[in-house]
Amino acid sequence: MKKRIFLNMCAIAIISVIITVAATVFAVYEGSRNDVKSQLAIEADYIKAAYESLGVKYLDELNRNIGGRLTVISADGSVTYDSIANVKELENHSDREEFEEAVKNGTGYAVRESESVNQETCYYAVLLDSGEIIRVAITVSTITSALFALLPWVIGIIILASLIAVLLANFGTKWIVKPINRINLDFPKENEIYEELAPLLVRMEKQRQEITLHIGELNRKQKEFAAITENMSEGLIIIDNKGDVLSCNKSAMRLCGFSGIITKGSGIYVMNRNVDFSSAVDRALSGKRAEHRQLIGGLSCRFFINPVEFEVGGVSGAVVIIMDVTEKENREDLRREFTANVSHELKTPLTSISGYAEIIKNGIAKDKDIKGFADKIYDETQRLITLVADIIKLSRLDEAEGFLQKEKCDLEKIVLDTAARLENQAKQKGVNVLVETESVVVNGVPSLLTEMVANLCDNGVKYNKDGGTLKVTVKARQNGAVLTVEDNGIGIPEEDHDRIFERFYRVDKSHSKETGGTGLGLSIVKHCVLLHGGEISLESKPGKGTKITVVI
Ligand code: ADP
Repeated sequence: MKKRIFLNMCAIAIISVIITVAATVFAVYEGSRNDVKSQLAIEADYIKAAYESLGVKYLDELNRNIGGRLTVISADGSVTYDSIANVKELENHSDREEFEEAVKNGTGYAVRESESVNQETCYYAVLLDSGEIIRVAITVSTITSALFALLPWVIGIIILASLIAVLLANFGTKWIVKPINRINLDFPKENEIYEELAPLLVRMEKQRQEITLHIGELNRKQKEFAAITENMSEGLIIIDNKGDVLSCNKSAMRLCGFSGIITKGSGIYVMNRNVDFSSAVDRALSGKRAEHRQLIGGLSCRFFINPVEFEVGGVSGAVVIIMDVTEKENREDLRREFTANVSHELKTPLTSISGYAEIIKNGIAKDKDIKGFADKIYDETQRLITLVADIIKLSRLDEAEGFLQKEKCDLEKIVLDTAARLENQAKQKGVNVLVETESVVVNGVPSLLTEMVANLCDNGVKYNKDGGTLKVTVKARQNGAVLTVEDNGIGIPEEDHDRIFERFYRVDKSHSKETGGTGLGLSIVKHCVLLHGGEISLESKPGKGTKITVVI
C-alpha cells in the first residue's frame, strides 16, 4: 500500500509539473506574441505618420535602422515599396489576410509560417488616407522552436520539480501510512484515525470479538477433551494419514509401555514396534477397521483401530483405542476352569450314586448290603448338596460385588454362636474349642461374616487331630476388628499356601471324601473378606497347625 501511495503521489506530482511547465511555456509564448503585435502596431502607426508627411525618403532612411520588413502596398494590391525584396518580383498582395483586413477595418494582422522551418512572420498592416497600405513585418520563432530553445530549462525544471515531488511524496506517504501502522489491532475501536477507516475498524472489532469467542470455545473444548481422555483407563491415540501421532493420552503410553516423549511428527510405530500392530495400522489407514491383540509387560492389550474418513474415499487418519483385557481374560480363564471343576466335582458323586443305584435296581445287591449302599448314596447326595450349596454361595458372592447392604454386626456374637454350633462336631473329633473375644461391632453383612467364621472354624476342626485345640480370638482395633482362627492340626505345606484360596483346591485330594470338603470353603472366606474391604493371611506348618488372621 505504501508503495502504491508513493507511486501515485509521484505520478500526480510529475504530471502536474509537466502540465504546469507546458502551460507556462505556452502562456509566455502567447504573451510574447501579443507583445510583438503591439510593437508592430506602434511601429506601423509611427511609420504611417512619418510616411504621410515625409514620403518615400523617410522609408529609405528608415530601412537602414529597421530590424523587420517594411512594405508599401497600393490600393490595388501591387507592392510599391519593400525594404527587403525587389518590388518587381513581388506578386500582387490584395489577397493577403492583413491587407484585406486593413482595407476593411483600417488595420490588419496576420501570422504566417514562413517556408523556412520553425520561423513564422507576423504582419501588421495599416490603411493610409491615400488608400495605400503600410505593412510592417517581423519574423519570430514558432512555438516549437521557442520550446526547443527553452528545452534545457524545461527539462531542468521538470527534473528538479520531480525530485522535490518524489521527496515530498515519500514524506507524504510516510505521514499517511504512519497512523495506519500504529493501529492497535487488539482494540481496533480505540484507535483515533481517518474517519474513512472507521467502518473497517468497527468490523475488525466485531471480528476480533468473534475470534476471541471462538478461540475461547475451542480452548474450552480442548480442555474438556484433554480432561476426558487423560482420565480414561483406555488408551487413546489419534494419528494422521501418515501414521504420525496427533494426540495420545497417558493410558496409551502406559499400556504401550512407552516412556519417551511424543513430539510433532513422531510415528505411532515409535510407541509400539510390533509387526502385526504395524500391519493393523496400515490396514486402518487404507480404510478398513482393524484389531490387534498383544501382550505388553504382562498385560493383555487389545487394539481397536478405526479409520477416520472426512471425505468420501479419503482417509485422513485413524483412532486407536487400547484396552487392558488382562482381568477380563483372567476371569474368562477362571470361569472356564471353574466350569470344568464343577463338572468334575459333580460327576464323581453322581457316578457313585448311579453305580450303587444300578446294583440295587438290577437285584445284584444282597439284602444285607442294601443298607450300606443306601448309606453311600445318602453320603454322596449330602456331598452333592454341600457342593451345590457352596457353588451357589460363590456365584451369589460373585454377583453381590458392589451391591452389598452393610449394617452394624456384632462380631463377638457371631463367633460365639458359631462356636456353639460347632460343639458337637468338635466333640466327635475330640477337638477342644477355645474362644477369646471382646465386644466388637463392624460394618458388614451378617450372613457373610457368619459364613466366613463358620468355614474357618469348620476347617480348624476338620483338619485337626484327636485331642487338638481350636482357638478363636476376636480383638477390636481402630476402625475394625482382627479375627484369628488357630489350630494345632495337620497344617499346610509351604508350597500350597498360595493356592489354598483357589476354588476347588485341596491339599490332600485323596482324603477329601473323608473330610467332606468341597475345596470351596476358603475361596468363599477370601471372597467375604474382600467384599468387606479386609485382608486375610495364613501361617501354617505341616504337623504344627494353622493360623488364619482376618483383619476387617
Ligand atoms: P475344603 O472344603 O476342602 O475344606 P477349603 O477351601 O476350606 O476346602 O480348604 C482348602 C484346602 O485347604 C483343604 O482341602 C485343606 O487341604 C486345606 N486346609 C484348609 N484349612 C486347613 C486347616 N485349618 N488345616 C489344614 N489344612 C487346611
